[in-house]
Amino acid sequence: MTTQSESTTVPVVAVVGRPNVGKSMLVNRIIGRREAVVQDLPGVTRDRVSYDAEWNGRQFVIVDTGGWAPDAKGMAAQIAEQAELAIAAADVVLFVVDAHVGTQDIDEAVVQVLRRSKKPVVLAANKVDDQRQEADAAAMWNLGLGEPHPVSAMHGRGTGDLLDALLDALPDAPAFAEQEIGGPRRVAIIGRPNVGKSSLLNRVAKANRVVVDNVAGTTVDPVDELVQVGPITYRFIDTAGLRRRVKEASGHEYYASLRTQGAIERAEVCVVVLDASETISDQDLRILTMVEEAGKALVIAYNKWDLTDEERRHYLNREIEQDIRAFAWAPSVNISALTGRNVDRLSVAIEQALDGWETRISTGKLNAFLGRLAAAHPHPVRSGKQPRILFGTQAQNCPPTFALFTSGQFDPQYVRFVERRLREDFGFVGSPVHVEVRARE
Ligand code: GDP
Repeated sequence: MTTQSESTTVPVVAVVGRPNVGKSMLVNRIIGRREAVVQDLPGVTRDRVSYDAEWNGRQFVIVDTGGWAPDAKGMAAQIAEQAELAIAAADVVLFVVDAHVGTQDIDEAVVQVLRRSKKPVVLAANKVDDQRQEADAAAMWNLGLGEPHPVSAMHGRGTGDLLDALLDALPDAPAFAEQEIGGPRRVAIIGRPNVGKSSLLNRVAKANRVVVDNVAGTTVDPVDELVQVGPITYRFIDTAGLRRRVKEASGHEYYASLRTQGAIERAEVCVVVLDASETISDQDLRILTMVEEAGKALVIAYNKWDLTDEERRHYLNREIEQDIRAFAWAPSVNISALTGRNVDRLSVAIEQALDGWETRISTGKLNAFLGRLAAAHPHPVRSGKQPRILFGTQAQNCPPTFALFTSGQFDPQYVRFVERRLREDFGFVGSPVHVEVRARE
């Protein structure tokens, strides 16, 4: 059995507050000082602002807004602007005030922004170093943001309770249907009619052990089939549909496409079977596109290899270069369901694609990559402005999905460029990669 592979969204916590309230020190505390945080100086733009954090087994990304004050505007306006961006990006806002100094006009300005955003806010009253100062924290009720949590970023006092409150405010982890968690990997064999899907399934089932008893902890849909290939058990999706002779029935194309759609949705990885002996068709490309759009891992199987001669293979290579280029990230295997050629290599390709699909890049690594990329290839200037990437985070895996928080709109070409470079640096073999831009206007 293999590991569980649910798609997980890592929530984003933005730390907001005026300079010198101790945001960076608090961030340092929260991430357990695993990563160095620079001094909290107004006007200093840092190259790193977001960090991976974890509390009680729950992961989140913490964004320190401390260093974003590049514009020469009034302090309150700057802070409000930073806050606005961070808030837009965040699932929860950690608003830090200085209990020692008390609230100031700037704090009030941020509170306005927070109210409008309607995002959950956790209020941290910092610099409460001992019990005597807790009264100062209580005074922060007047901000109208609910309970102030007294903390001392310096000494760590109260940070556990603060993190508990933060976790409570995070959106619930996405719920998954019982069958979606863990268990054998779900594989769909798809492709247009007559490419050899059911022959391939039969070949795989014949060469390997078909598991009829229930695998512990999983309920197996009767239309699926469990097959153990080497040490790994796969759940082949809707094999009943694959074996049914709908081919002779009228309207079978329609049912075939319904089946394809349903199988893609339920699968983690799709093996798209193409007939190597025939010209690649629009229908083949549509099916490949469906897999990409559904965000599933992809393996391409060129079947009926036994029917190809040198001339056909020459033309096939040209077709692959022209038509399949957009799917060059997918591992492919040349197989023959008839002779069994290379069929055993499919599981290697499937594992490779699932690995790429599940890849998670740490926020630190991602931002280091984005920093290098932006330095070498900045976004072109648009109407006199230079759109910049403020920070990025991998919002999801399965498939890898990245959110870039930017100043200004990004050209679609540049987004595709970032996507390509992400692939070059991190691989993601066999998986679609999504890049979303969230721009501050
Ligand atoms: P499906 O509609 O995609 O499930 O396709 P089938 O598995 O029913 O195969 C369609 C036809 O192609 C059948 O006559 C198969 O015997 C034949 N076929 C499937 N795979 C191969 C292969 O690798 N080589 C050859 N020569 N014929 C194949």
